[in-house]
Amino acid sequence: MATARAKGATVCAQHHVPRSQCPPSAGHPRSVRFRDDDWAAAEDLARARNTDAGPLIISAAQAVLGYARCYRCRPEDPPVPLRCGDLTGRTLAEAITEAEEQAVSQHPAHEPVWLGAEPAPVGDRDIDATLEHLRAQVRQVRAGGAPAHVPPPPASAVFREPKAART
Ligand SMILES: [Zn+2]
Ligand SMILES: [Zn+2]
Repeated sequence: MATARAKGATVCAQHHVPRSQCPPSAGHPRSVRFRDDDWAAAEDLARARNTDAGPLIISAAQAVLGYARCYRCRPEDPPVPLRCGDLTGRTLAEAITEAEEQAVSQHPAHEPVWLGAEPAPVGDRDIDATLEHLRAQVRQVRAGGAPAHVPPPPASAVFREPKAART
């Protein structure tokens, strides 16, 4: 420790080694300014979900960083990547919890998990988008050609050949 001090390295009060040698998974206390009303809202949400504000905020930050952590993994194991899915019908907090549960249920064979529902296959989405495009055109014609918002047709649906024609 004397050499570390001589070099000016800070010794960790928690792990008693130079701070640079603490494991990456170490849970050091951090100091972050947080609005009182935001903190109160986080505590309310956490209470409703039977957790504390800390874990809630950590999970939210990890989701923003694009991953979730599996608590069954060893501390040094990598996190589980998130794929952006469909958040319709769920809150972001619910989607994050679901993604974490999905990750834990995969353990130990991890692969990316969906944040939200897995999106419909591209073919189905193209059909939906094409139908919405046609409906909007019909509405516009009925309305006497008034400029209405017509969503563009998905390029892949318009120009895609039937699967049978490709082979
Ligand atoms: Zn430490
Ligand atoms: Zn795991």
